[in-house]
Amino acid sequence: MIRTRFAPSPTGFLHIGGARTALFSWAYARKHDGKFILRIEDTDVERSTPEAVQAILDGMTWLGLDYDEGPFYQMQRMARYKEVIAQMLAAGTAYHCYCSREELEAMRESQMQAGLKPRYNGHWRPEAGKTLPAAPRDIPPVIRFKNPQHGVVVWDDLVKGRITISNQELDDFIIARDDGTPTYNFCVVVDDHDMGITQVIRGDDHVNNTPRQINLLQALGATIPQYAHLSMILGDDGQKLSKRHGAVSVMQYHEDGYLPEAVLNYLARLGWSHGDDEVFSMQQFCQWFDLDHITPSAAQFNTEKLNWLNAHYIKQSSGAVLALDVTKRLAAKGVMVQDVDLAAALELYKERANNLNELANAVAYFYAPIEPSAELLEKHLTPDVMPILKALAEQLSTIEWTTANIHEAIEAAVTNNGLKFPKIAMPLRVMVTGGTQSPSIDGVMALMEQRKCLMGISKYLV
Ligand code: GLU
Repeated sequence: MIRTRFAPSPTGFLHIGGARTALFSWAYARKHDGKFILRIEDTDVERSTPEAVQAILDGMTWLGLDYDEGPFYQMQRMARYKEVIAQMLAAGTAYHCYCSREELEAMRESQMQAGLKPRYNGHWRPEAGKTLPAAPRDIPPVIRFKNPQHGVVVWDDLVKGRITISNQELDDFIIARDDGTPTYNFCVVVDDHDMGITQVIRGDDHVNNTPRQINLLQALGATIPQYAHLSMILGDDGQKLSKRHGAVSVMQYHEDGYLPEAVLNYLARLGWSHGDDEVFSMQQFCQWFDLDHITPSAAQFNTEKLNWLNAHYIKQSSGAVLALDVTKRLAAKGVMVQDVDLAAALELYKERANNLNELANAVAYFYAPIEPSAELLEKHLTPDVMPILKALAEQLSTIEWTTANIHEAIEAAVTNNGLKFPKIAMPLRVMVTGGTQSPSIDGVMALMEQRKCLMGISKYLV
């Protein structure tokens, strides 16, 4: 049984990199009929906030990354961590260290001066035949892991290939602080073990933690999961992705009018490929996804491609589905949907929208008073077309209100007067929509109630 997890620290929103990690872990579990677990790593109490937890949960929900277990909160698992620490102390795989801050600083200084990598020198490390100093009573000890001193840690990273780290590079790192709170690497290990994680898929900023975590797992007699370290995501400009690049929080994409399908499809291709396939559903992705086709090199963000996918998924969506979202966007602008069928309007407008905000703006005039600028009226309602428009309005009041009939009436007015189509369509557009950009004006008018549409026009045709 495959068991993967996403383990964010709630110190900020769910960013694009985190969302991709979550997506890959989720897809891997789905592909193998396994379980996907959400674990909130909130032990950094200074930096973790309930708002960030909520932002992560919202982001996961919006993207539809459903988890089978969790969310588990590390802060609620303290008793379990303490239990494992007690077991390790009893087993001799961890020990108390009473070195003061000053002593550690001095140790560091002298190692640096000798040109060595600073590391804990094992002062309090118990060894067969070694006599430890008497424990000072006034110093609360930290607890250190008794890391193996020889040999190497090796793992076959599913993205980066074989990685070998000498144990001499690692030291006896602290697993519990002097106030008894467990440290980051320790909690991750206990959780991955307890939660039966089979593949750890995470950002490659954690590669340095992995040998320590493997040694700890080994000391606990745990099975070692496989590791897949994903390369980082760079911005359009090749620099590390940051706020400078615009939206980095997934919920910001929601606000900016992106569909989750577009963001997911985009993220799926960020460092993973299936031949030349660019556009695919999440169902398809879950069937295709594997860890062999993840590129070890950094992926570069491409806003244009994301925008293109967004426009694609908007076109693919039905007006009815889009209406669910757009109604909320309109309400946020104080525009209440009434009379004109929003789903039908969106069906007409979705072809030209790049995002949902654009779509909401484009249809807003159906529900708000139309106020064309004097300039537009003057430009398009010229004296020569006024009588023609008046006659057309009269004609329109007699027809059955369909796109085809409206089109026919406009067409007749155009030909009978030897004009070009825009000469009539433009003033209509200005009067009906308040602007000069809209899909075909007959279709737009047909969405409105005949009487209301004509009343709107007539007031300009005095
Ligand atoms: N909590 C870590 C982070 O947010 C991830 C730890 C892990 O995946 O092992 O970066």
